[in-house]
Amino acid sequence: ISEVLDSMDYGPAPESADHALKWLERGPFGHFINGAFTAPDALFTTDNPATGAPLAQVSQGSAADIDAAVAAARAAFGDWSARPGHERARYLYAMARHIQKRERLFAVLEVLDNGKPIREARDIDIPLAVRHFYHHAGWAELVVEEFPNHRPHGVCGQIIPWNFPLLMLAWKIAPALAAGNTVVLKPAEYTPLTALLFAEICTEIGLPPGVVNIVTGDGTTGAALVAHEGVDKIAFTGSTAVGREIRRATAGTGKALTLELGGKSPFIVFADADLDAAVEGVVDAIWFNQGEVCCAGSRILVAEAVAPRFEALLRARMGRLRAGDPLDKGTDIGAIVHPRQLERITGLVDQAQAQGATVHAGTAPQGCFCPPMLLTDVAPANIAVTEEIFGPVAVMMTFRTPPEALELANNTRYGLAASVWTENIGTAMDVAANLRAGVVWINATNLFDANAPFGGMRESGFGREGGRAGMLAYLAAPGPQGRAPLADSPAPVPLPAG
Ligand code: NAD
Repeated sequence: ISEVLDSMDYGPAPESADHALKWLERGPFGHFINGAFTAPDALFTTDNPATGAPLAQVSQGSAADIDAAVAAARAAFGDWSARPGHERARYLYAMARHIQKRERLFAVLEVLDNGKPIREARDIDIPLAVRHFYHHAGWAELVVEEFPNHRPHGVCGQIIPWNFPLLMLAWKIAPALAAGNTVVLKPAEYTPLTALLFAEICTEIGLPPGVVNIVTGDGTTGAALVAHEGVDKIAFTGSTAVGREIRRATAGTGKALTLELGGKSPFIVFADADLDAAVEGVVDAIWFNQGEVCCAGSRILVAEAVAPRFEALLRARMGRLRAGDPLDKGTDIGAIVHPRQLERITGLVDQAQAQGATVHAGTAPQGCFCPPMLLTDVAPANIAVTEEIFGPVAVMMTFRTPPEALELANNTRYGLAASVWTENIGTAMDVAANLRAGVVWINATNLFDANAPFGGMRESGFGREGGRAGMLAYLAAPGPQGRAPLADSPAPVPLPAG
């Protein structure tokens, strides 16, 4: 990623925020329910983390708002799911094109709300979101042919985090609609703005009311959505702690569930690896998006023989990273999403240090910023090795043999992703096959494509997003008669015993 970014010409810095600030004058914002914005109510403020300045006032969704949104999604489901796939595809194509048409506005709004660097928003978040809608427009056309016995679940409740707000919205909404479901989506409370701009696109393209509903608010709004009896499927991305609560709340309800949770992904560098490439890999693995990435390569495992050289290269590269104004096109590391998240990061680093870690840090401005960090001298039980930090903080450990590397790599509760660096294809394939992770990258990291399934194992959750596997997560499997029951049909009457 960094190579592509470095080769691009971004023009004079910083990017202007005027257009986005003008759009924000439409606030305070209500929810988007049944094709229209509700009157703003129970307002909370979303801030720009880079400056601390308030950006907009947004409504805190109540159980009644969730009720209204689920009712609208239910009412829209029959017509939407019965449409031929090519009709649903037209709306998904239109969503992609309309985001593309406003890509600059989306990118700047994302930067203002989240704090991520503008060049990442422009070159990664927004294009990947667009690609997700295009890709799933194709699936909408194919779904009946590919999955003739499956049916959409019905109403999907979707809860997303703050690290890639529009991209996570795309990962949720595109496959759900392609499969014929309708949705109620709750964006994260720190970053609701691009979802509200997306709601405007739904109106612009004439999407039937109720197919997409967006209710803003905090975890209580999310919990109300999870608990709602009218929801057929819950899709959640966020922390393992909340994922656990959601699994508990949906147990025994018959609701379908997919969870994409945290990670502590290993980044394994063998002695024969191209060390310069691996250093750039680390930049993309843990210092991309301020390390606020669920699949971040946060545990660097390096072959002992090359560890001193690799550490020296890495620390020199870390020292050249520029943390600062997210709207500046030269910025590598933007602001941390919220002071609470910064506190969590620094708290974990302090504990790691107290447990014996040596902390090497780059530089960052005052405020809600965190310098890139590399922690060495860490024991396997150090908190920075075991806990997801969700900040620009990597730990480095060494190994002697491939089995030892595997043992260290798999010594985690998580299992989202892993990255293997070696010039030996045999080593790469052997290690990849034995890593307990949903995604393994070889001589690469953080590669995402709408066509490639993404998801975890163990405490990183279950279910896949993207590609064929991701489509299946939005379809009900065939029942005993070979066809899945329609979501609206009454529950089958049990046959008398005997
Ligand atoms: P979170 O899990 O609390 O929030 C994610 C989403 O879930 C938000 O929309 C939130 O409003 C909602 N939510 C919170 N409580 C809920 C509940 N009881 N029921 C339903 N929805 C609920 O994550 P966070 O507080 O934003 O971040 C905390 C930690 O989670 C981070 O430090 C990081 O470790 C991890 N995280 C992981 C991811 C990921 O992509 N895997 C993303 C964000 C955060």
